[in-house]
Amino acid sequence: MSATPSLRPMFAFPGWVIERIDIDWNIKHAFVHLRRDGRIQHVRCSKCETPMGQMKTNDRSVQDLPLGTLQVNLLFTAFQGRCSRCGNIETVTPPGLAPKAQATERLKRHVSHLCRYMPCDKVPEFIAISGGTARRWDKEMLMKMLPAPKRDGIRAFLSMKNPLVMGIIF
Ligand SMILES: [Zn+2]
Repeated sequence: MSATPSLRPMFAFPGWVIERIDIDWNIKHAFVHLRRDGRIQHVRCSKCETPMGQMKTNDRSVQDLPLGTLQVNLLFTAFQGRCSRCGNIETVTPPGLAPKAQATERLKRHVSHLCRYMPCDKVPEFIAISGGTARRWDKEMLMKMLPAPKRDGIRAFLSMKNPLVMGIIF
C-alpha cells in the first residue's frame, strides 16, 4: 500500500482524467482540473452511437464535496456536440454532472443529509453555500429519493361532536 494514498479514486469520472489539483491555502480552496481522456477519440451520440462533431466549448466550475475544511471545485471544459446522423445535440460533461449543474449530486445529497439534523440556515456553517441553496437542494433530493405518497385507502372523516374538525385516516 502506498504511504501517500492518492485522491484520484475520489474524482474518478469514467472518460475523464485528473490533469492536476491546485490548492490555494489562503482561501482554503482546492481546484480539481479534469480533462477528457485523450484515449477516447470521439464522443458518440447517446441516441445512435455516431461520433459527434464539436460545436462549442464551455469552461465550467462545479462545487463538490469539501475535503475537510477545503472547499472543492471541479474545473473542466464541457463541449456541445451535434450528431451528423440524427441531429441530436448534447452537452458532454463528466458522468453524473448535469450540463448546467452548479454542484455535484453527491454534494447535494450530503447537504440534504445535513438538513435532517439541523435547520437549513445552519448548513452554511459547514458547507460554503447559502441557507436558501441548502433548502432548495434538500427539496430537490427529497423529491428524487422519496417514493411518491400512496393515496390508496385514505378515508376522510367529519367529527360529529365538532363539525369544524375534519381528518384523514391512512
Ligand atoms: Zn445520433
